[in-house]
Parts: sequence; C-alpha cells; structure tokens
Amino acid sequence: MILNVLGCSGSIAAGCKTTAFLLDGDVLIDAGTGVGDLTLEALARIDHIVISHSHLDHVLSIGLLADSVMRVRSAAGRGPIRVHALPETLAALRAHIFNGAIWPDFTRLPSAESPVLELVSFKVGDVLALNGKRIEVLSASHTVPAVGFAVECGASEGSAQPGWWVYTGDTGPNPLLWERLRQMRVAHLIIETAFSDEERQLARISRHLCPSALGQELAQLEGSVDVHITHIKPGEMEAVMAEIGRLGSPHRIRALEAGHTMSLAVEPARAYG
Ligand SMILES: [Zn+2]
Ligand SMILES: [Zn+2]
Repeated sequence: MILNVLGCSGSIAAGCKTTAFLLDGDVLIDAGTGVGDLTLEALARIDHIVISHSHLDHVLSIGLLADSVMRVRSAAGRGPIRVHALPETLAALRAHIFNGAIWPDFTRLPSAESPVLELVSFKVGDVLALNGKRIEVLSASHTVPAVGFAVECGASEGSAQPGWWVYTGDTGPNPLLWERLRQMRVAHLIIETAFSDEERQLARISRHLCPSALGQELAQLEGSVDVHITHIKPGEMEAVMAEIGRLGSPHRIRALEAGHTMSLAVEPARAYG
C-alpha cells in the first residue's frame, strides 16, 4: 500500500498545500488544496474520499474534483465517487457548498440518476472497506464534528498484529483517541500541531494542538513511534518544530512533508519448500 502526502499545511502559500493524502491512487483522505497537483488521469482514478470534518481546508477540492472528472468518469461508465463522512459533515457540505450558490449540486449532476458524487455517512468506530483497504474511523475533538482515520497496513515480520497508519485529523486534546490507540500497533502517527506555544490560547479555543499540548497528548502513547507533524501554519514551521524538539519525547518526531511517499504494507515473509 502506497500513501502519497499531497498536502499537509495548515493553510496556503507557495509550497504550502492543505491536507490531502492519496492511498493507492484510488482513496483520498481529506480533500485540501494538495489535490490540485494531481493530473486529470490521477484525479479520475479516485473512487472514494473520506473526510475528517467540514472545514474548508479539508473539503474544498471535493467540488472541483467532481467537476474535473465528471466527463471522463461518465464516458468510462464509472460509478459515482463516494464521499464518506459524519452525517453532520455531509449536511454541512449539502447546505453550504453543494447548494447552487457556492457550487452546483454534484450529487445530482450530470443527472440525478447517475451523479458524479454520492454522500455516504459513517460513525466513529466504523471500519470502512474501500477498494481492499480497511480504514477505521477514530474520534477527534474539534470545533465542529470531526474524526481521524486509521489505515490497516498489514502485519510486519515477527508480529502477528497488523500495523496502523493513523491520522488524527484536526483535534485538540482527546483522551478517547489515546484509549483506542493503546489497543493498536501504531506504525505511523500523523498528528496535527497547528499553532506555536505563543498562540496556545488560540490553539485552545480553536480546538487545535500547540507543542506543549502535543507533549501531553504523546505522553499517553506508549513506546517509541514514528510521529509526523502536520497542519503547521505557513511561516511557523521552524518555531513549532523547535518547540517540539524541546519536549524530549521518546517518540521519533519529524515534520511531515508534501510530496512524501510512505510505503505502508509490509508483506508477510513467504516460506518456500
Ligand atoms: Zn478544522
Ligand atoms: Zn484544518
């Protein structure tokens, strides 16, 4: 399984794209501005989009993607792109984006019978099976209903337990997340740190993390895990990563980079003879 980081910034600027991850070319995890770098051919391969929450930096490419691929998919007889999210998130998309004022209703285009988008609801704890990939919906604690996702990677050598690629979504402190993650073998943790400690007040009221809050969260995760920091605001990267460096965490923490490719599946060793 291959995961491409299309965008992992908290906002836009040259070289900064907002959150989007592409899994094996056909499942998109969040639809931020990073999606715009894909070719039309690559866009047309996307069959499923899982959305963490309704904020613009995570959803704004859904409507543009639908517009770009509608002709290609309908000419090839492909079904709708399924957009999976909480019911509250889907209601927000219907009311505030696909409302005919901000953007056309692509859940009824090119025709109501065979639209390019289909909205599908999930709840926390569901395990989605999408094109052979298993994705568990995790809890998050943000200013709007929100979730994170865990992608099952397959068991590695010497371990019967599958590893998980985990993305927290946008979240403030959230004990429920750590309760669940303690039961999983976390291979990679993608966790947000939207603000520096100087803006800890802003982080608190907007239900995001700053480095000191990140330290308290990561202390609830046992062992030494590969941790990738995402959603840092443009221009704040150095300050935030320096503050994180001073946490003295036992985890291996680095900043996530757009364009980065992660190989997730570890094939079990095959015995011959
Ligand atoms: Zn958000
Ligand atoms: Zn965000």
